[in-house]
Amino acid sequence: MISNLKPETRNREPGTSFMNISDLEEKWDLVVIGGGITGAGILLEASRMGLKALLVEQNDFASGTSSRSSKLVHGGLRYLKEGRLYLTYISVRERERLIREAPGLVEPLGFMTPVYSNRRPGRLSLEVGLRIYDNMSRQRDHMFYGQNEFSMRVPCVKQENLLGGFHFRDAQVDDARLVLRVINEALLLGGCAANYAGVIEISRNVRGDVAGVVIRENETGKTKQILTSAVINATGSWAEKIHPSPDQSLHLRPLRGSHLVFPAWAFPFPEAVTFFHPKDRRPIFIIPWEGVVIYGTTDVDHSNDLSVEPVISKEEISYLMEGLNAFFPSLEISLKDALSSYAGVRPVLSRKHLAPSKESREHVVWINKGLVTITGGKLTTFRKLAADALKAAKPFLPQARQVKDEEIFKSTPEHFTDGRISPLLLRRLIGRYGEGAKEIINDSSSEDLSNIPGTNTLWAELRYGAKNEAVRHLDDLLLRRVRIGLITQDGGKEHIGRIKKLCAPVMPWDEEKWDAEINMYLDKWRRSHSVA
Ligand SMILES: Cc1cc2nc3c(=O)[nH]c(=O)nc-3n(C[C@H](O)[C@H](O)[C@H](O)COP(=O)(O)OP(=O)(O)OC[C@H]3O[C@@H](n4cnc5c(N)ncnc54)[C@H](O)[C@@H]3O)c2cc1C
Repeated sequence: MISNLKPETRNREPGTSFMNISDLEEKWDLVVIGGGITGAGILLEASRMGLKALLVEQNDFASGTSSRSSKLVHGGLRYLKEGRLYLTYISVRERERLIREAPGLVEPLGFMTPVYSNRRPGRLSLEVGLRIYDNMSRQRDHMFYGQNEFSMRVPCVKQENLLGGFHFRDAQVDDARLVLRVINEALLLGGCAANYAGVIEISRNVRGDVAGVVIRENETGKTKQILTSAVINATGSWAEKIHPSPDQSLHLRPLRGSHLVFPAWAFPFPEAVTFFHPKDRRPIFIIPWEGVVIYGTTDVDHSNDLSVEPVISKEEISYLMEGLNAFFPSLEISLKDALSSYAGVRPVLSRKHLAPSKESREHVVWINKGLVTITGGKLTTFRKLAADALKAAKPFLPQARQVKDEEIFKSTPEHFTDGRISPLLLRRLIGRYGEGAKEIINDSSSEDLSNIPGTNTLWAELRYGAKNEAVRHLDDLLLRRVRIGLITQDGGKEHIGRIKKLCAPVMPWDEEKWDAEINMYLDKWRRSHSVA
């Protein structure tokens, strides 16, 4: 639990304390359910409005879809192709703002896409799409390269019928760190957030108005009644469990998307590459990220229980490998080269049960007597979702202050230097941890300010996360506070000894708990992230 309970402790320094739910105050202006990017964005905005707001997450922060995306902050050329101009426009504008306001966390990313004489989309339709994309951001960002230059920039791309290809720009993010940075920012403004605390009941008064929620702490099973007259349900794919759709013909359709993670050497490209899968012409991405390459994604119905961790299926693996081999046969990449995999479930609203990729990615807002539900949407547009949810909740929040549209992060420290790390690394730390970047640097030896081999992550980040970011289990630390569970061999197994040595002094775990956590983590990793 990350908490900030007493008003006098608001606007505090970074750093958090672990508490039981029984320590939480009883009365709140607003309770936000769900600790993904949607809930985090709402908590931040509500805290800015001066509301006493509590966010509760049933598992770990960002453990749902918000740590399992393609990590793009993008307009989505695909949405443009489907005629969803407004969604693309909002997304492109948000992308530009986040690049400006969250350097080191949201960074521009160049894309290359090949054009073939015998495949669609052709050069003309891509040119039209990219022009519209550029107009939305009011920049000219795309360019066509002929066959030779394109092949130099994207070595090993299939040559037969290749005309060349386009270069364009989008942006990328560490999705779980975005969630954590937004939550941390909200805490600095007086917000409160608790992980491993799920809402099991919405309480109502005799008129049917929301009167509170009942929270259950995962590990102890303890419950607590919280009083509030406003609840925002930001539980993504889980939303209808709390608030069934008021529209009989519109329901959540959980759609799984999966990725494979490869070491950087597997793809000799300096930038991202996107191509259209030969089977269904869906765009697939090869994206350099955090020192590795992520490759995906798929889009298939997910019928499993949402309480079970989603995993990539054999069919999805075949689909992804088929696409790779069609466009990059000479790379001879095999599944054995993959470091890991991950799968996430999109909260997609469906009316007509179209082909998965044809379903809209727009969000909906439902209101029921103090309960506001917001679901659907994208990571990129989380601020729009937060604004829409709070607008809908306004009648139940008379205490809310009117606020101006401000920069996302206020806690970004003045630029400072430390001879031990490069300006680029400093930018990365400030983007991910805000003011916390100072603690990471000041409290660390030069040895701990070095990279974990094969990654952009510093050893020192692990200790910072373990100390300050409400880590309850080892997978919280290795899969979400930092991402080495996804980007190193065997989930980082070979590093666990050093991780324990580094983090044990700042964690309340004894030897027995460490052993149990290590076993649990490795078992979970094998079940959910290995490719074997
Ligand atoms: C494969 C894939 C790729 C994607 N790529 C991109 C991309 O590149 N760019 C982009 O912009 N978007 C992308 N998206 C979409 C984006 O990831 C999602 O729209 C976004 O993460 C949804 O966030 P959320 O907070 O609404 O849901 P979630 O992140 O799922 O958060 C909901 C949370 O609610 C919690 N919860 C549920 N029930 C309860 C309860 N009763 N009590 C307490 N907590 C509860 C859950 O545990 C969960 O953590 C992608 C999605 C997928 C699946």
